[in-house]
Amino acid sequence: MERCPICRARFKNEPVCYRCGADLSPLLAIEAEAAALEQQAVALTKTGQWLDAWQAADQALTRRHSSLAFAVREFARRQWIVGETRQWERLLA
Ligand SMILES: [Zn+2]
Repeated sequence: MERCPICRARFKNEPVCYRCGADLSPLLAIEAEAAALEQQAVALTKTGQWLDAWQAADQALTRRHSSLAFAVREFARRQWIVGETRQWERLLA
């Protein structure tokens, strides 16, 4: 969060806006969740857990836009589809 969503004052890393007094703690909690889910998605990608990585990145993106989470989601989704396709090809061969 760069600015208070109520008054647009610059965010100063405090849970209460210094200008309008808005309680920003729920938004900070959502941002923390998004960051944790994004890190989880990256970690799951490293171990090739594509479906879980895809879902974690997707959950991160429901909370906050992030180009990293977006890239991880698309990459994990494609890798999962490739894996599924190969499994079906083996089953049908
Ligand atoms: Zn404010």
